[in-house]
Amino acid sequence: MIRTRFAPSPTGFLHIGGARTALFSWAFARHHGGRFILRIEDTDVARSTPEAVRAILDGMDWLGLTHDEGPFYQMRRMDRYKAVIGQMLASGHAYYCYSTSEELDRMREEQRDRKEKPRYDGRWRPEPGKTLPTPPAGAHPAVRFRNPADGVVAWNDLVKGPIEIANAELDDLIIARQDGTPTYNFCVVVDDWDMRITHVIRGDDHVNNTPRQINIFKALGAEVPQFAHLSMILGDDGAKLSKRHGAVSVMQYHEDGYLPEAVLNYLARLGWAHGDDEVFSMEQFCYWFDLDHITPSAAQFNTEKLNWLNAHYIKQADNVRLAALVRLRLEARGVAVTEAPSLEAIVGLYKERIVNLNELADAAAVFFVDPAPDAELLARHLLPEAQPALADFAAGLREVAWEAPAINALIKHCIGARGLKMPKLAMPLRILLTGQAQTPSVDAVIAIFPRELALKRLSAPFRHPVAPPP
Ligand code: GLU
Repeated sequence: MIRTRFAPSPTGFLHIGGARTALFSWAFARHHGGRFILRIEDTDVARSTPEAVRAILDGMDWLGLTHDEGPFYQMRRMDRYKAVIGQMLASGHAYYCYSTSEELDRMREEQRDRKEKPRYDGRWRPEPGKTLPTPPAGAHPAVRFRNPADGVVAWNDLVKGPIEIANAELDDLIIARQDGTPTYNFCVVVDDWDMRITHVIRGDDHVNNTPRQINIFKALGAEVPQFAHLSMILGDDGAKLSKRHGAVSVMQYHEDGYLPEAVLNYLARLGWAHGDDEVFSMEQFCYWFDLDHITPSAAQFNTEKLNWLNAHYIKQADNVRLAALVRLRLEARGVAVTEAPSLEAIVGLYKERIVNLNELADAAAVFFVDPAPDAELLARHLLPEAQPALADFAAGLREVAWEAPAINALIKHCIGARGLKMPKLAMPLRILLTGQAQTPSVDAVIAIFPRELALKRLSAPFRHPVAPPP
């Protein structure tokens, strides 16, 4: 049974790199019919916040990356960590170290002076036949892991390939501080062990922790999971992805009007490929996804591609769903969404032309708020020669069958009768009805309005521009 986990530290928002890690862990479990576990690594009490926990849960929820077990909070597992530390002390895999931080600083300084690599010199490490110093009275010791002195730690990273580190390179890691609190690398191992994680899929900023963690797994007699370290994500410009590149928080994409399926589809292609397939559902992704098609090189963010995918998914989306999403955005802006015109009809007409839900909300808002077109637009398009045709059209509109083809016929009739070209009437109509010079086909736009509202807007006070065009 495959068991994966996502183990974020709640010190900020859920960022786009974290979401990709979560997606790959989730999809790998789904692909194999396994379990996906959510674990909140909140032992850094100074930096962890309940808001950040909320942001992670909201982000996962919005993306639909549902977990099968958890969320488990490390802060609630302290007794367990302490019990394991006790076992390791008893079995000789860990030992008390009474070195003070001043002493350790001095040790490192002297090593640097001797041009040696700074490391713990093992003064409290028990060895056969070695006499340890006498513990200072009343001192609180830290607990160190007794790392194997020689040999190598090796694993076959499922993304990076075989990796090998000499044990001589690894210090005796502190697993409990002087105040008794367990340290990060140790908690991760106990958790992955207890949660029976088979595959640790995480960012490659953790690759240096892995040999230390493997040694602790072995000391515990635990089965060592497989590891897959994902390369980082670079921004559009090739630099490490950061706030500078715009949105990095998953919920910021939500705010910015992206659909979760577009973000997921986009993230899936960051460092993973299935031939040339660019557009696919999460169901399809889980069916395809395995760790052997992940590239070890860094993935580069491409906002244009994300926008393209978002536009695609918005076009595909059901109008009822889009209307509900746009309604929330309009209400948040204080726009009162009424029964008529129909928001569903509006999103149906505009969804072909926009890239995100905020643009869709912009387009929809003009149907519910009387327009106030700017003077320049009015002067440019509401020309005196259009006035008679506009009057004819408004009169005809009282009677016409309320559907785009009939309205279109009426427009053609009105321009024909006055010898005008289409834009001469269509532009003023657009501006009077929506305040904008660019809209979808004007007959379709008019058909969305209730008849009375269209007539009201056509007789707006600004219909007769004050100043003729220059
Ligand atoms: N808590 C770590 C982080 O947020 C992840 C640890 C892990 O996946 O092993 O970077």
